[in-house]
Amino acid sequence: MGSAPSGSDPGARGRLRLPVVAGPALAVPAGFASPAPRADGAALDAQRRPLRYLRVSVTDRCNFACTYCVPDDGIAHQARADLLSFEEIERVVAVFAALGVERVRLTGGEPTVRAHVVELVARLAPRVGALVMTTNGHRLPELARPLVAAGLRGVNVSLDTLDAARFARLTSGGDLATVIAGIDAALAAGLEVKLNAVALAGENDDELAALCRFAWDRGVTLRFIEHMPLSSGALYQPTRELSAATIRAALTAAFGPLVPADRDRRAVGPSRYWALAADPRREVGIISAMTEHFCDDCNRVRLTADGALHACLGHDDAISLRDLLRQGGSDDDLRRAIAYALAGKRPGHEFQRTGAGGPGKHMIAIGG
Ligand code: SAM
Ligand code: SF4
Repeated sequence: MGSAPSGSDPGARGRLRLPVVAGPALAVPAGFASPAPRADGAALDAQRRPLRYLRVSVTDRCNFACTYCVPDDGIAHQARADLLSFEEIERVVAVFAALGVERVRLTGGEPTVRAHVVELVARLAPRVGALVMTTNGHRLPELARPLVAAGLRGVNVSLDTLDAARFARLTSGGDLATVIAGIDAALAAGLEVKLNAVALAGENDDELAALCRFAWDRGVTLRFIEHMPLSSGALYQPTRELSAATIRAALTAAFGPLVPADRDRRAVGPSRYWALAADPRREVGIISAMTEHFCDDCNRVRLTADGALHACLGHDDAISLRDLLRQGGSDDDLRRAIAYALAGKRPGHEFQRTGAGGPGKHMIAIGG
């Protein structure tokens, strides 16, 4: 502790900058004092946004390689020994829960390819208000029931297309029928299910209405996600942008007018919800990071499988909680490191619709 963090950029734009996880052990500066806890338990970030939600990537590996997520030449995977153990994840999650985090989402890579993920769910579920998962759904046919039994509350399943050949191409070999069986297995097992579709012009813009109908037929809500330029923008093509406004226009053409259905769900996630004016039970979400960003309401931070705490999806700043754990850090040290990350959290991402402004990190490693 106490040495200058490698890669830090103190004072840039007059604000605290976090180190980029790239080098040796990172540390919270010795002089950094954690703010006093709030009466309601919520930790606040630099913009006074309360922290309520933690996303935990449990692996940077995946059984798919979606063309919009994984660079053509892949990524340098984290070594097994560098990943947080289940004990380490449990300890970090417990500290976050004590800081007011109510909801924890397991993600990846593909979280269901982490060995013994059901055991991890069983360890974490009692420690948090709601434990949920984002998954490509391919392993849900066999895992949905064990995951529910272990305490998982819900899954967001990625489903970008209902065309089997297109699905195989977009996912680099994924099987659509298996994923649909996984969605149905999740519903049958009693999981709360939402569907996610990355919306891309020229890829699935002809299926927006069909994807909504697929979700509504199963009594679930689908959210369209605007493509974001991670991997330094390498996978981002402005010509494939499908903006929230374009999505709404397409849905209006298919189903008639939409009305806002946000209610209090903005407190839970970044999706803005819309309902059909003609049938308000039919809702659709849009996660519009690019064209109608929602950073003012951000309530989350992200932990990678190797224990790097990223305060913002759109920036590479991170601090290694793993190093702290493995140096014998106490829970109080973890709280200080989390407070330090929150103190350096930026007001928002800097994604630009040209594809510039994105971080170098990869979506498959940070997990969305
Ligand atoms: N493998 C799991 C899955 O596909 O749901 C969890 C990890 S995946 C990275 C989480 C979500 O991020 C998925 O819904 C995926 O479609 C989405 N995603 C991947 N790359 C993206 C990008 N560049 N911009 C926006 N969303 C992206
Ligand atoms: Fe894997 Fe999910 Fe990325 Fe597709 S979006 S490659 S399923 S991590």
